[in-house]
Amino acid sequence: MSSLINLSATSSKNMEPHQRIRALSNYGIVGIDPNIPIKRYYRSGTEMVRMAHVYLQEGNHENAYILYIKFMTLFLEKIKSHPEYKTLSSTVKQPIKTKLKEVMPVTEELKVKLLNRYEKEYTQYLADKKDEAKQKEREEAAKRDNMKNNVVNLDNLRIESDPNVQPSAPDLSLLDQVVYPNDFPSGPNRRSEGLLLPDSVPEKKPSPQRPTFDRSTKPHRSESLIEGSLRTVVVPNNTMSVFLELARKNTLNNIETCGILAGKLAYHRLLITHIIIPKQSGTSDSCTTTNEEEIFDIQDQKNLITLGWIHTHPSQTAFLSSVDLHTHCSYQMMMPEAIAIVCAPKYQSSGFFMLTPNYGLDYIGNCRQSGFHPHPNDPALFMEAQHVLLDDKCRIEVVDLR
Ligand SMILES: [Zn+2]
Ligand SMILES: [Zn+2]
Repeated sequence: MSSLINLSATSSKNMEPHQRIRALSNYGIVGIDPNIPIKRYYRSGTEMVRMAHVYLQEGNHENAYILYIKFMTLFLEKIKSHPEYKTLSSTVKQPIKTKLKEVMPVTEELKVKLLNRYEKEYTQYLADKKDEAKQKEREEAAKRDNMKNNVVNLDNLRIESDPNVQPSAPDLSLLDQVVYPNDFPSGPNRRSEGLLLPDSVPEKKPSPQRPTFDRSTKPHRSESLIEGSLRTVVVPNNTMSVFLELARKNTLNNIETCGILAGKLAYHRLLITHIIIPKQSGTSDSCTTTNEEEIFDIQDQKNLITLGWIHTHPSQTAFLSSVDLHTHCSYQMMMPEAIAIVCAPKYQSSGFFMLTPNYGLDYIGNCRQSGFHPHPNDPALFMEAQHVLLDDKCRIEVVDLR
């Protein structure tokens, strides 16, 4: 993470407000890959707006603004360079055109709001800086006075100085004042105390050693898209068993089964809620979906965004084949967090995979071969996804279109 440019909300208060807005506008603008079917971009545009709406409702104005700008740049400008643009039917173009008209005034309004906020923060930043400088000046002056006195009363000072007091040393105990809830023993009493804010700790109780601090009141740096880290993808724990049950008949016949993982955005997390099983035809090592429009219709009805895909390897281990890598590439290009779940029932194992974000995505994106073909495997083209969280509490829903 340290290698990424850090422009998160909490660290950019020292940026001039208009410059800060521009940084948001420039974030995440992607070029058009002529090898990706144009319909995928239109699909992704619909989902971009869906996510922006969620951020807006949740009050995350920066992320909403980023996605609206990204959407507008894509469909007012970039998409026109796609070779299929001129022949694309107006039935595909029209819904996006309508969305553009809706989104533009909202984005303008957001910009004004953000600029107001940034201006306030910037004014505060400048004032704080001025105060700091004054404070420093005062300290310097005091130091100079002290030195003068030291020269004059060196003898006195020796007599007065107390070996136990070290006034000029920084008070290191202050660093320990912040106590996170998790630092407390998990006993029932301790736990509730640990979660209280300092000023709500009852006065008469014996002090719980140190003042407490609620982590949830800190600004969450990771909740800004601009920071570039992947959002967590939450997968219901029963996803794999439910899918294997749906695939059972194919698996017995040594035929692959595939499904789309779809879900929603909530508080900067991507939650997989549905497996959509499209009409498909499979072999022992491949699976092709047919009638994609049906999948999109379901997603639009249920307001779902595409978060990846799941498929079986009826007789092989869990990994991504060369064909899988290409399939996954178009998912991950549209959604950096997209995951590929591979279930290998014969080995009773499952893998959660993605292309390596820099190398693998780029390499496969530029590989023009199709069907099964060899790829160099060093450096790695794919990896275990680290941003996946299995959740015991939620259950996956199934839409079977077969
Ligand atoms: Zn596979
Ligand atoms: Zn390839």
